[in-house]
Amino acid sequence: MSLTKKIIIALIAGLVVGLSLNAFLSEDAFSNIDYYVLSPIGDIFLRAISMLVVPLVFFSLVLGAASMSDVKKLGRIGGFTMGFYLLTTPIALGIGIGVAYLLQPGTEGLMQQDMEGYEPNEAPPVMETLINIIPSNPVEALASGEMLQIIVFALLIGFGIAMLGEKTKGLLDLARQANDVMIWLVKIVMLLAPFGAFALIASAIGELGWNALESMFMYMLAIVLALFIQMLVVYGGIVFFWGKKSPLWFFKGFMPAMAVAFSTSSSSATLPVTMKSAEENLGVPKQISSFTLPLGATINMDGTAIMQAVATIFLAQVYAVDLGATELLTIILTATLASLGTASVPGAGIIMLAMVLQSVGIPLDGIALILAVDRILDMTRTAVNITGDAAASVVITKMEKNRGETFDEEKA
Ligand code: ASP
Repeated sequence: MSLTKKIIIALIAGLVVGLSLNAFLSEDAFSNIDYYVLSPIGDIFLRAISMLVVPLVFFSLVLGAASMSDVKKLGRIGGFTMGFYLLTTPIALGIGIGVAYLLQPGTEGLMQQDMEGYEPNEAPPVMETLINIIPSNPVEALASGEMLQIIVFALLIGFGIAMLGEKTKGLLDLARQANDVMIWLVKIVMLLAPFGAFALIASAIGELGWNALESMFMYMLAIVLALFIQMLVVYGGIVFFWGKKSPLWFFKGFMPAMAVAFSTSSSSATLPVTMKSAEENLGVPKQISSFTLPLGATINMDGTAIMQAVATIFLAQVYAVDLGATELLTIILTATLASLGTASVPGAGIIMLAMVLQSVGIPLDGIALILAVDRILDMTRTAVNITGDAAASVVITKMEKNRGETFDEEKA
């Protein structure tokens, strides 16, 4: 049986077991099972895969940049990638806003719910994120997993290796061998994926149960519907018309990464699998994937943008705040920036939502309403977040190949 099938079966089993545990066990009994069985298994998988993120990104990007001695080519790929990421986010926001207006999820008497005891977080300023991409201390950047800083540093090292040629051949070999070892490790860790996925889902669903899902049904439906449209219509369409590939081939090849994103709720933890699926199943050359995918995992979050759009409209409806055209444009602008600045870890999107709500004067306390179901929605939006990165990589590969570019790692 293929790994994808195993993970999908594990996800379904996790869902069934989670719902049953919630329905038949007392809260205490569930907490015990969660604490001693489910959470440890989930955490072992999460930690094992997260362990590979920084070294994998670093070595594969050094290798990618070193073999792409042509700065112009990187500039072109970089420019296109940024353009693609910045363009698909407002599209996602438009879809989110449209669906939220269509379904009107926030009109039912939700205000009675208990909002006490919730302290909204302050969202970090966006300018700071932009300046911070230059690492003042690369070791610190690597140690704390600052992805944008790592990307900048690895690119520079890679270029240095390419420029110095023969003199630094040892370093190039080192990067290549280290990268091979990391890829091998990803394969090993992925053997744990079905168990990890099962435990993570059972734990999340078991804690929440059916009732919580029911009361927020319309809100969740709006988000999931918008995510589906983004996934199938926008990404499927881009892959088909622009990448000249079958969407079915695309989704099938990328399924392992989507399933892992769904279970971990973290684009960054999924990165090793995202890169593996894109390179092995979608034919994206390492020189492209090593740049586009870590960058995308960090800044391109269309799924998160959709959640922020739907949540904002939803809360505007709950609080009866009128939103005119100016407010909608403000939402699109701030949510684009907010999704850029969202960390690729579980639950980060809801923190950045504060920034969007603030921009149109919706009370931040409203976040308490949607917090409970956010864990589940986080899974779905993370899967969409990384699919956008893969779609970009497929299109860029096609464009570069059309230009007659060859991608040979041994070239350097
Ligand atoms: N969990 C999401 C991700 O890693 C971010 C979010 O919370 O929206 O892509």
